[in-house]
Amino acid sequence: MGLSTVNKKVVLASGNAGKLAEFGQSLAPLGIELIAQGQFITGEVEETGLSFVENAILKARHACAASGLPALADDSGLEVDALQGQPGIYSSRFAGASGPDKDAANNTKLLADLADVPAEQRTARFQCVLVYMRHAADPVPLICQAAWEGRIVTEPRGLQGFGYDPVFAVASSGLCAAQLSKAEKMTVSHRGQAIKQLLTELAEKQ
Ligand code: IMP
Repeated sequence: MGLSTVNKKVVLASGNAGKLAEFGQSLAPLGIELIAQGQFITGEVEETGLSFVENAILKARHACAASGLPALADDSGLEVDALQGQPGIYSSRFAGASGPDKDAANNTKLLADLADVPAEQRTARFQCVLVYMRHAADPVPLICQAAWEGRIVTEPRGLQGFGYDPVFAVASSGLCAAQLSKAEKMTVSHRGQAIKQLLTELAEKQ
């Protein structure tokens, strides 16, 4: 069975409207109509994996099973070397907060945890994994993974983006991710690079 995607409906295994718009725009030129998983499922699958790729597979498989359609899932987060890879898959819930203050709480905790860590040891990277599954029992899901290298600053900078963007200085420019426009970030970010890989692989295989 090939990966043909022409005029194909694909479910996005996420409840996030922003992601639906972003991934939907990227996949439209391949003839893919991206549909929200909310049309088939209420709530989200429990992310019990210990790695980004495991959690992305769990989410994609769940969306495939519920919809009977191919599914795309993503999982992403921040890996900080001085914290042995944390917050990693727990990036979203790092400080245990929820709601509108979650990002600020996560950033405050991260800066506090790194308070005694010198500049040269503050290396970090954003990771993004995308999984495309043709059906719930797909033995060969398409997996794309990309990283975006940088370091954690000591004071937040910039107002764009979300999550850890104000405390993540991009290795190539030294600017914080929150100082980049949405378009600038997409050309270099972990998510932007993983999407590029996915588009290439899907286009080659259809
Ligand atoms: P998710 O994969 O959308 O659940 O993202 C997990 C968490 O990783 C987010 O809630 C953020 O805390 C963090 N994260 C992932 N990508 C980014 C990014 O591009 N900028 C800032 N934080 C990010």
